[in-house]
Amino acid sequence: MTADAAHGTLLDRYSHALTGLFGPPQRALVSGSGVRVVDEDGREYVDLLAGIAVNSLGHAHPRLVAAVSEQAGRLMHVSNLFTSEPQVGLAEDLLRLSGAPAGSSVFFANSGSEANEAAFKLARRHGGEDPSGLRTRVIALEGAFHGRTMGALALTSKEAYRAPFEPLPGGVERIPGGDLDALQAALAPDAEGRTVAAVLLEPVQGEGGVHGWPAGYLAGVRAATREAGALMILDEVQSGIGRTGSWFAFQDPAVTGGDPVVPDAFTLAKGLGGGVPIGALVSVGSEVSALLRPGQHGTTFGGNPLAAAAARAVLATIEEEALLENVRRVGAALGDGLRAVDSVTEVRQYGLWLGVDLAADAVRPLPDAGPAPAVVRAALEGGWIVNATGPRTLRLAPPLILDEADARDFVAALPTILSAAGQPTENRGASL
Ligand SMILES: *Cc1c(COP(=O)(O)O)cnc(C)c1O
Repeated sequence: MTADAAHGTLLDRYSHALTGLFGPPQRALVSGSGVRVVDEDGREYVDLLAGIAVNSLGHAHPRLVAAVSEQAGRLMHVSNLFTSEPQVGLAEDLLRLSGAPAGSSVFFANSGSEANEAAFKLARRHGGEDPSGLRTRVIALEGAFHGRTMGALALTSKEAYRAPFEPLPGGVERIPGGDLDALQAALAPDAEGRTVAAVLLEPVQGEGGVHGWPAGYLAGVRAATREAGALMILDEVQSGIGRTGSWFAFQDPAVTGGDPVVPDAFTLAKGLGGGVPIGALVSVGSEVSALLRPGQHGTTFGGNPLAAAAARAVLATIEEEALLENVRRVGAALGDGLRAVDSVTEVRQYGLWLGVDLAADAVRPLPDAGPAPAVVRAALEGGWIVNATGPRTLRLAPPLILDEADARDFVAALPTILSAAGQPTENRGASL
């Protein structure tokens, strides 16, 4: 290491060493405990974002730390030429918690994008089974986010993410979400007679600001895809593992509108490992499970004992500490509290997952980028980590262990944060 690298500020060193994809980091964080993290200046923050819906158990949860430490000291990685107890046990846990029927199965990956890549391949294989040779189309929704790898990106809606990397894998079409007529039209054979292999969608769209569907939409997608012989694949990368107050969003009456929905497959990642990278594709039932045959897909790291042991500890802790109940109770309190704040125009809340819309003039004078990014900065100054998914929309996805006192304190702090957001602040980022 050069003397410069040793003595420059972290932000400086970051800008010279890291690929410039993410913009300057807001802070350099050094430790955490529960819902709190501490930065390099010793300032403490309540983390209402959880590394974007990842730190399910908060930071340094003793059970997760113990599970990872114990497994690291025993066996970290074995490749998929071998297996291990944590891997098998985790697959069994996921099948049990999802209520998947006999014959269902799990493929482990390392991220949400990779889980969705596997889902894309599953869709192609389902198409390949059709004797017509014409089941080649995959339907995704406008506003969808499925990841940044080429296949997952082809399924992602945002033009600005996709355009620099075209051509992307083909056969993907986008339709408006929440519109069963548009879906029915898309499921009909196209002019060349091509039919749909799969419809892939999020039960609630997280990146766009936590938008659910009208009651009955998901059940309608289920019925229409079954009728058309297409797979219904749910991307539960952000919504799964307790985020909504149910293990999986497709089990959650608030998400589905009450009609039970069982997809043909679903993907998981973010909250599953509590911070240790892991993703999964769950194939529901023996027919779907049989689509991916030996040798057709693979991964070096996916489902290794370290990541699997972490995920098992996350699931066991959610279960034994009754965290789903906590998510529902604290989430409802947080949602109700935020709805009562002046300048909050709408709150969409599923468990501890909230999209908070601000009035256009919530921050005065109005910053160019809209109120939400200014509120994120002011919240940080006030000791709260939140995130903006649009010019007027905040997203909260706190650890599932958040308690009511911290939730109430944030609601109480928001008016002060809103007024501070309009005031010039010295740029703390510069001193990182
Ligand atoms: C975050 C996210 C992904 C991508 O996951 P990565 O781990 O970043 O690859 C895919 N789908 C949804 C719904 C997500 O929220």
